[in-house]
Amino acid sequence: MTKSAFTKPFTQQEAIPEAGIERAVEVMRGGRLHRYNTLAGETAEAALLEQEYAAYMGQRYCLACTSGGYALHIALKAAGIEPGEPVLSNAFTLAPVPGAIDNAGGKPVLVEINPDYCVDLAHLEVMMQQSKARFFMLSHMRGHIADMDAVLALCQQYQVTLIEDCAHTMGASWNGKKSGTFGKVACFSTQTYKHLNSGEGGLLTTDDDEIMARAIIYSGSYMLFERNGTLPPVGVFDDIKLDTPNYSGRMDNLRASILRAQLPQLDENSARWNLRYHALENRLRQNSQIQLPERSAAETFVGSSLQFRVKDLSPSQVEAFIAGCATRGVELKWFGGIEPQGFTSRYDSWRYIEDSQRLPQTLDILATTFDLRIPLTFSIEDMGTIGGIIDDEARSAALD
Ligand SMILES: *Cc1c(COP(=O)(O)O)cnc(C)c1O
Repeated sequence: MTKSAFTKPFTQQEAIPEAGIERAVEVMRGGRLHRYNTLAGETAEAALLEQEYAAYMGQRYCLACTSGGYALHIALKAAGIEPGEPVLSNAFTLAPVPGAIDNAGGKPVLVEINPDYCVDLAHLEVMMQQSKARFFMLSHMRGHIADMDAVLALCQQYQVTLIEDCAHTMGASWNGKKSGTFGKVACFSTQTYKHLNSGEGGLLTTDDDEIMARAIIYSGSYMLFERNGTLPPVGVFDDIKLDTPNYSGRMDNLRASILRAQLPQLDENSARWNLRYHALENRLRQNSQIQLPERSAAETFVGSSLQFRVKDLSPSQVEAFIAGCATRGVELKWFGGIEPQGFTSRYDSWRYIEDSQRLPQTLDILATTFDLRIPLTFSIEDMGTIGGIIDDEARSAALD
């Protein structure tokens, strides 16, 4: 019997909407690609994107910059981190998060996750007490949103400033409130595999005047900050503009034009992602070895990827399972590997973090956690094919 295979690439995103392509061509014809290169009376694409994204988020300010990781870096700096300060973060995240903490001069202090891929609140409290950290960079990794009421209560109790990494929760919400509006600052990525695609790019949002003024100056405003799309009262810049270094990391008008065309489709695309997510989830539920995370009714997530665990697989069975799926065209990522590979890594591979921590619960969860992307170029029907292959291969790996 020949086994069925899936042939579409897991890394193929949809095309940029025609309106964005046309606008990008106009920007190129105009030659004014730099965000501060404007004619009299003209508002640059980057500034317009900032206005539109701030309005989408219901926040006062947005800054368009070069990457999500850059936004996280200057968010910490703008929030006032001092050299060597501890910064809490959940241990299941992507490398740019501890990287941003390091870049800002901080020391990552990692917190356990629970089997639903959210931060473990009991461990968070212990680490808040132990570390005395003033900052918590909460990464809503793979779109899993922790109980935000409980997170905020802890932050308040221990006087911790919350910074949200919303790389996978752009368009998502908790109890009807948008992810990214709970903390003091939120950071988003517009790198190709996220919910808006400009190749590379980042967006920072906040309601705080001083944080925004500092973030703008850090991003490299060359004292042209009055051309930014969302601007705190100009007086706020009086001291900040001379006390804050320029860490050059602006977004250009070309990328902004591409993103502006995608933003009006974000909510509709989120619904399209979720149709695919639920179709795959339902198919995987037919196999009782496969454990899917419980998601709170308060969580409106964007199902652009799916995580699951396969019970009781030994390390060699894990290898066989991944290889079996790969042979049939289903590209799984495994967060349990010792060696970091293609967009995955386990926290203990970040060896530059000095005080190495051991997080047994996170290691145990990641040892049998698999992850797959759900690009919108896949149809709902494809989800049945992919789910069937995973189901099959999990059964045969367990027999190996
Ligand atoms: C993609 C990503 C980021 C930021 O990524 P950039 O490549 O710097 O835009 C941050 N956190 C998580 C969890 C991510 O997946």
